[in-house]
Amino acid sequence: MRILIVGGGIAGLAMARALELKGLRPDLIERKADVPQGGTGLYLPGNAARALQALGLLDATSALATPIKTQRILDHKGRPLSITQTQDVWASCGPCLALPRGVLHATLRQSLRETHLRFGTSISEIEPLEKTSLATFSDGTMVEYDLVIGADGVHSKVRQSVFPEVLSQYVGNVCWRFITADTVGIDAWTVMLGDSMSLLALPIGDGQVYMYADRSASEREARQDLAQLPRNALLETFPAPLSALVEQMPAHTQVHAGRLEQVVMEDWVSGHVVLIGDAAHASSPSMAQGAAMAMEDALVLAEMLSASERIGDALAGYTQRRKPRVDWVQKQCIARDKMRRLPGWGRASVLKLAGNLLYRRSYTPLTEPI
Ligand SMILES: Cc1cc2nc3c(=O)[nH]c(=O)nc-3n(C[C@H](O)[C@H](O)[C@H](O)COP(=O)(O)OP(=O)(O)OC[C@H]3O[C@@H](n4cnc5c(N)ncnc54)[C@H](O)[C@@H]3O)c2cc1C
Repeated sequence: MRILIVGGGIAGLAMARALELKGLRPDLIERKADVPQGGTGLYLPGNAARALQALGLLDATSALATPIKTQRILDHKGRPLSITQTQDVWASCGPCLALPRGVLHATLRQSLRETHLRFGTSISEIEPLEKTSLATFSDGTMVEYDLVIGADGVHSKVRQSVFPEVLSQYVGNVCWRFITADTVGIDAWTVMLGDSMSLLALPIGDGQVYMYADRSASEREARQDLAQLPRNALLETFPAPLSALVEQMPAHTQVHAGRLEQVVMEDWVSGHVVLIGDAAHASSPSMAQGAAMAMEDALVLAEMLSASERIGDALAGYTQRRKPRVDWVQKQCIARDKMRRLPGWGRASVLKLAGNLLYRRSYTPLTEPI
């Protein structure tokens, strides 16, 4: 079977790995010159660890990651609202892990043996034909494939080619991310919630901490230049323990800024073209499920392709198995973002009374087999 994977992010690399494990040899093209080396951090809840195990990469990843046993939610004054022991929910799946993004990309990339990788090449267009798909590359060459897998992220070119009516939607928050030295000893996933801002710190090993800050913003505000971290607003809103990490970050720290977007669509298949990962179902990061969903997509699609005689049947089976789970995650992300916008006293009451229950309710369905 001639398979093209477009995109060498978590979804595309995991897809290539899952296909190799089924004895298939895909082509993969990625527009960047190589997998990202730096970047920011990543939180992987237990179902991501289970997916990594199925890809044969859990030991290699865990060796470079920090296990996260506790998730702690504090209010804007640093008072505890909710404390959850992650293994109360994830014990049947695996550990929750935190790590630099580049580590996961490199682990996936280094696991590939049979995939024909082309970095520094992008896709210009995909044309679905009756039983194949025609890919046009940025250098003008055209190649016919039995299947094209769009793993090219939230602004997917593959999606634009076959579902031009589906656009990504802004979800109402802008964010900033960076890695800095852990000068205060953060030993758990720790978030502080303010009225329109939140600030999260996550230990990622080697004495470093991954920081994520977000703020509600109108569509118009979100279109303005976000490059500058709102340092003063963060320091005015949040006291210790997290403010110290913002205060002490070196001036040259690389800050990644962006607006948060989601992709919601009914169907991910058009002829012999299929979407996975953020190209199909990007969500706000409030459930930290992006990597897990991308890797689960890859495992299920590879399994369906190797088990079905006809590609059409495999793609229908993939959608049927993945849609309910992905819909659940997207709904939970929207509910969490809404809860965050409650007035401070409402948010505090809900989290104090039912923080653990809400955690359990939103994640337990994801502990079910994929
Ligand atoms: C602020 C923020 C924080 C997040 N935090 C977490 C977290 O803690 N945990 C978690 O699990 N998830 C998190 N996520 C979500 C997670 O990052 C994504 O779900 C995941 O990276 C999606 O991977 P992907 O491979 O589908 O897409 P991407 O990572 O976007 O990869 C797509 C790849 O395709 C390439 N590409 C694009 N167009 C073309 C083209 N035309 N031709 C060839 N190549 C192309 C791109 O260069 C890129 O390498 C977060 C997301 C955001 C925005």
